[in-house]
Amino acid sequence: MTSPRPHTLDASLARILCIAAHPDDIEFTIAGSVARWVREGRDVVFCLVTSGGAGTNEHTPENTGLVPIRERESWDAARILGVKDLVFLGYQDGVLEPTLGLRRDLTRVIRRSRPDVVVCGDPTVRWYGSEYLNHPDHRAAASAALDAVFPSAETRAIFPELLTEGLEPHKVKEVFLSGAVPPDTWVDVGDTLAIKCAALKAHVSQVGTGDWVDTLLRDWAVRDGKRAGVQYGEAYRRLVLRSGT
Ligand SMILES: [Zn+2]
Repeated sequence: MTSPRPHTLDASLARILCIAAHPDDIEFTIAGSVARWVREGRDVVFCLVTSGGAGTNEHTPENTGLVPIRERESWDAARILGVKDLVFLGYQDGVLEPTLGLRRDLTRVIRRSRPDVVVCGDPTVRWYGSEYLNHPDHRAAASAALDAVFPSAETRAIFPELLTEGLEPHKVKEVFLSGAVPPDTWVDVGDTLAIKCAALKAHVSQVGTGDWVDTLLRDWAVRDGKRAGVQYGEAYRRLVLRSGT
């Protein structure tokens, strides 16, 4: 079997929106691709559905809760990756559902940022191997994100209240699903894996000193790079949405 080649985004795909449930999801999964896309001159926007208020069972130092800490860490990580725009939707961490309200909020973000590509998780994955259950927030955010991409973002009659906000329909061209089983597309992150590690380490409330981060992310990148014949990779399922339907 021949290896698939690593995937390079077409030059016409200049605007990218990454949607995730929690503040560190992007840095754990797709941040190498993000840093690469930024280096290629593309505009990347992050949308975080929750602010990660349930991310630890410890008391926070000021007892004001985790939300302000995690939002600050998310901005730090985004800056390291070269991402200038970060949207928090403010949903409660840990109990996320793919409601119509969430779909409307994500549709609003899509119509505002008008991305060519949306990157999100795979809502169909309940578990990985025999050790990891996928977090229900990840599934909920990904499910609502896909429903926002199609049909909500591109259909005038869905959420007409968005029209009154001046948000016209928008057609997304491609969707990249992170954590999909099985993947079919790989991005070479050999030049940006170090930036990904630095960005994840910005989430100090989650990773502590972060001395394990480089090893973990390198191991994952080696595993995913193998299929595409590169040293370090990130894996996706890629959807190219038909135009004119
Ligand atoms: Zn998460």
